[in-house]
Amino acid sequence: MANITKKVSWSGRGDDRGERTPLLNGSEDGKYNRQLSGGGMFHIGRLSTVDLEEEITPEEDIVRSRPKEIPHNEKLLSLKFESLDYDNSENQLFLEEERRMSHMPIAAGSGIPQIKCYLNGVKIPRVVRLKTLVVKVFGVICSVAGGLAVGKEGPMIHSGAVVAAGVSQGRSTSLKKDFKMFEYFRRDTEKRDFVSAGAAAGVSAAFGAPVGGVLFSLEEGASFWNQMLTWRIFFASMVSSFTLNFFLSIYHGKTGDLSNPGLINFGSFDTDSLQYDLYEIPLFIIMGALGGILGALFNLLNNWLTIFRIRYIHRPCLQVMEAMLVAAVTATVSFAMIYFSNDCKPLGQDHTEEYPLQLFCADGEYNSMATAFFNTPERSVRSLFHNPPGTYNPVTLGVFALAYFLLAVWTYGLTVSAGVFIPSLLIGAAWGRLFGILMSVIDTKPSILANPGKYALIGAAAQLGGIVRMTLSLTVILVEATGNVTYGFPIMLVLMTAKIVGDYFVEGLYDIHIKLQSVPFLHWEAPATSHWLTAREVMSSPVTCFNRVEKVGTIVDVLSNTSTNHNGFPVVTHTTEHDEPGKICGLILRSQLIVLLKHKVFVERASSRLIQRKLQLKDFRDAYPRFPPIQSIHVSQDERECMMDLTEFMNPTPYTVPQETSLPRVFKLFRALGLRHLVVVDNENRVVGLVTRKDLARYHMGKDGLEELHLAQT
Ligand code: ATP
Ligand code: MG
Repeated sequence: MANITKKVSWSGRGDDRGERTPLLNGSEDGKYNRQLSGGGMFHIGRLSTVDLEEEITPEEDIVRSRPKEIPHNEKLLSLKFESLDYDNSENQLFLEEERRMSHMPIAAGSGIPQIKCYLNGVKIPRVVRLKTLVVKVFGVICSVAGGLAVGKEGPMIHSGAVVAAGVSQGRSTSLKKDFKMFEYFRRDTEKRDFVSAGAAAGVSAAFGAPVGGVLFSLEEGASFWNQMLTWRIFFASMVSSFTLNFFLSIYHGKTGDLSNPGLINFGSFDTDSLQYDLYEIPLFIIMGALGGILGALFNLLNNWLTIFRIRYIHRPCLQVMEAMLVAAVTATVSFAMIYFSNDCKPLGQDHTEEYPLQLFCADGEYNSMATAFFNTPERSVRSLFHNPPGTYNPVTLGVFALAYFLLAVWTYGLTVSAGVFIPSLLIGAAWGRLFGILMSVIDTKPSILANPGKYALIGAAAQLGGIVRMTLSLTVILVEATGNVTYGFPIMLVLMTAKIVGDYFVEGLYDIHIKLQSVPFLHWEAPATSHWLTAREVMSSPVTCFNRVEKVGTIVDVLSNTSTNHNGFPVVTHTTEHDEPGKICGLILRSQLIVLLKHKVFVERASSRLIQRKLQLKDFRDAYPRFPPIQSIHVSQDERECMMDLTEFMNPTPYTVPQETSLPRVFKLFRALGLRHLVVVDNENRVVGLVTRKDLARYHMGKDGLEELHLAQT
């Protein structure tokens, strides 16, 4: 077995001097440094050395808070992303409130990769801000209307999530306004549920697919799911669909006519004219495989492009220039292709276009290439699905699919609001229709000949599935968006084939982008070959702990240490023996300590009755989610000598595991419960280590087996 060799260790596990909880005995900077720079070689199991292109020394890294070159290396995990607390801190205050409460609720009442990360439990800065929403909405109007190869569904899903997160909090940071409502919801767990519902409502409004929306949240985001949540999310989706319907009916001048379920409308497939035969199912599966291959190619090209962008195009002015360049090239390519195309069709009775475009064709004719290019992408999809046979020449379709494929690869990841669903559907619809036409040449059975449209639908599903790799939710979304259940089975088959084939080559597009951002994302399962790793190898040790009654000075020193910057601390019983770790009696978060320090909840003050009122949960909620930094809290020399009793505020029953627990078991616990910190104890309940999300996310399956990523300040 080869070894995993680690060159930069930030967790101090390289330190084998056996130091225990140094901060219990006051802060010693030397120890911190040592803890930090434990840069020795570290061997756990098998596999090769992972080299960083540029070795960053900790000192250097602290000084330059923003590196000149953002590491593009996917073998890194960024320390920038903090976790969310999806496990409530059941401290005494919380339990008291829960006891007081009756069972009535207290209040009546894309960015897809980012939302995916948020629901997974990673705090992505500013992802659910009002400002983000405004920019997103304005941006997507411009990018879609401007003719880029983008769709509006991703931003709509993201917008739904932002609205939900904002409404549930009853205040807005961007507006600097607190409506003093819904204070109960001011914690990560509750906010997450709202974000799931918002994302589902976004899908529902975009595609007119309420059930698809629920399944989207289930498949893409939520790691934590229960019946109550399903029902609430379903309700949100339905209401969203109804509301949209209502406003669209006013917009179309037919108030009360509720038959416009979604903003993106692919037109409904009529089963009578579009049946499929059993013998066509193998053809559909072949198309699924083709979609998987083309999707993998799309993802691979986009991956390279994104790495290039992260390396060289990270200055805002360059990003704007690139966006302008893409816009110019898209327009030029579109017009050039319309100009050089000679696919002119006579204006007959059977074309379904509202406004056929004559562009460069003789009078009484319209330009087919323009129908595909000179339209919003979703309208082009609709015409590919529904226009009668003979509307498009095979050459037009082939050239269009190729050009649009390249444009879409280039456009995704550009710094504009853009979704990838619709462009993928459009590419797939074009080559699917072409496939249908070719089939009709080979086999002249009337059912195939009659409708290349259904091949366009299958192609669209295959291409989209090959790129984003969703199966469950996409099947339902496409069935709902086309209003035809008959195609449910072939669409599912196609999506499954596309996923299996695509996964063989490269990951899904969203996962690629999440990885390139070095986000500590936890997938559904632990890496396949990680059974031989145990909590002992994964955990950080020694752990910075606090005593149940701790000196204020010690707490301030620990929190002020910018090099470690931990967010959670086990609380232990005081030990008399020097090198013996204390027994666990709770876990306290940095945010809680900050609030305690801010309100000066010191033992001495309580006894001299200087405190007017007892600290309440409300004080913690008011500070949520942007707790002040420790630097902004002033603690005088005298106060440093005071003591703080953490008993009432810590979580007295944190989850713990023995050192022998296998990595998959730790992983399961973390993933299913949405934990942020997991304490590792010995058989006498003494704290020996701590596992966080990053300690788990760093293990992943590489080409040669299990690899370990490095933690780095990016
Ligand atoms: P997060 O940043 O996710 O909100 P956190 O800051 O507490 O949580 P991480 O940033 O994930 O923790 O921790 C980085 C490394 O530091 C991990 O390897 C983790 O095990 C370690 N670590 C976290 N807290 C402590 C602690 N109290 N004592 C020692 N090591 C810790
Ligand atoms: Mg951290």
